Amino acid sequence: MKKTSRPSVKQAEDAVRTLIAWAGDNPDREGLLETPKRVVNAYREFFAGYDANPEEILGKTFEEVEGYDDMVLLKDMRLESHCEHHMVPFLGKAHIAYFPNKRIVGISKIARLLDVFAKRLQTQEIMTSQIADTINKVLKPKGVAVIIDAKHQCMTTRGIHKINTSTVTKKMIGLFKSDPKMEEKLMAMINLSSAC
Ligand SMILES: [Zn+2]
Repeated sequence: MKKTSRPSVKQAEDAVRTLIAWAGDNPDREGLLETPKRVVNAYREFFAGYDANPEEILGKTFEEVEGYDDMVLLKDMRLESHCEHHMVPFLGKAHIAYFPNKRIVGISKIARLLDVFAKRLQTQEIMTSQIADTINKVLKPKGVAVIIDAKHQCMTTRGIHKINTSTVTKKMIGLFKSDPKMEEKLMAMINLSSAC
């Protein structure tokens, strides 16, 4: 990804003042005086994923799987991201599975990988692929599956206002793609005790 150089904090705060004025309010009124600073700080948090290297997060893998020979599934992980078209949140859950091939990784690393990609301006489709491809590249597992189910506020609070619509995206690699039984098994595990 090409990176543009970052503007200063002052420039970012001035941009927020401009947007407040564009919305029709007065950035100098008391209630809004500290708002640019707060928005800029919130942006640091929302978009912290640009400062992390996804492959490094998965960098420490373990070779001993002690005879474990099935999929590892992290399900119902909270997802918070921002759509790159409107810069408003999309929220939902992610299910990430992989079938190890001698190599495993700490499960919290998978959750962090999700956050690194989510804390960027995203489309749900691209993020789904990025997560699956990174796990595939670093762990070289027998298969990877990523399923994301999210509601986009650009669809619920503006535009066509389709409040209950959720978007489901999935990327299947290896076993999960080539063996329909594996996908079935995965779906059964995801639906176990929770609706997808
Ligand atoms: Zn959008």
